[in-house]
Amino acid sequence: EFSDLALWQLINRNNAKKFAKKNNLEYFYKGNGQGLVGAIGAIGYDFQDHTLELLSYRKKQKFGKERKISIPSVKEMQEKTYPDTFNSFDTKKGRVLITPHGPDPVFFGVRGENVNSLVYASKIIKSEEKLDGYLIFKSNQGTGDHLKNELTFQTMKPYASGKLTGIVSNSPKVAKGGHVFFKILSNNNEFWCAVYKPTGMSVVASHLIKGDKITVGGGVRKASKNFPRIINVEFINILSLEKQTKISNPICKKCNKKMKSKGKEQGFQCIRCGKKSSKKINEKISRQLEKKLYLPKISAHRHLTRPKQRQGIQNKSSNFKNSLSWFCVYEN
Ligand SMILES: [Zn+2]
Repeated sequence: EFSDLALWQLINRNNAKKFAKKNNLEYFYKGNGQGLVGAIGAIGYDFQDHTLELLSYRKKQKFGKERKISIPSVKEMQEKTYPDTFNSFDTKKGRVLITPHGPDPVFFGVRGENVNSLVYASKIIKSEEKLDGYLIFKSNQGTGDHLKNELTFQTMKPYASGKLTGIVSNSPKVAKGGHVFFKILSNNNEFWCAVYKPTGMSVVASHLIKGDKITVGGGVRKASKNFPRIINVEFINILSLEKQTKISNPICKKCNKKMKSKGKEQGFQCIRCGKKSSKKINEKISRQLEKKLYLPKISAHRHLTRPKQRQGIQNKSSNFKNSLSWFCVYEN
């Protein structure tokens, strides 16, 4: 129950402390104790799907120093192990996605589907730095689990995450910087959605029109001075597209050509055959969008974002095999 809630709603750290005491859990924490929420949440997590992450650790004297990793080796690792590993290298930007940037002891973290692929991947990655070893963790990264709950007027609290199905209720506005804002109507409530430029989905959002039926998922940002509570969109699933039309001059059926106006309130005439018509028509415009799931670019993925190749995949095997190399201390 605690884990289910921690997955998508903000839990007060005092509730975590109370929970630990009530259940006789031995605990300690550093800082303000917000980490207890994550720790208890992780222990009680009911995995319906999971991935693994291999974390390699630096030697103590290297903590806080710059990480030097061979970029081509990460690219090669991804080519050789995809789709059993994911989100390691952004081929469009040539960027390594497996190294953290802080002073923590982790040198790199490779995410994937099984132990053997991760161990193989770790052997392809090259660096001059001598590492201490690795540990493999079971995780909900790449599962999209944080977006599985329905956001409603009641549950859409600041820092909550979830999904929402509704009808686009205004014309999307493109703000400075290319970020797109629009509203959707769901169960008689309107919700603001923000699609930021770096997600690569802002163009999609800008092509939405009033009446489109969509599901969006994302995190709730608390209201600011300039904006009400808003969903930071992490995916857009288009369920149905409204017909888009524009008013234009009639078409001559015989010549398949647009008629020309003869002047104000004078009607229209085909310049080729002379056929006349009095009224303008509603011309259908083809939509630039498809009924499908739009996902962010991998450089904009959050930890739990479900990557494209994991759509429809469920990793359910939960038996722990002792024979696999879950950890290793390097001898160097
Ligand atoms: Zn004609």
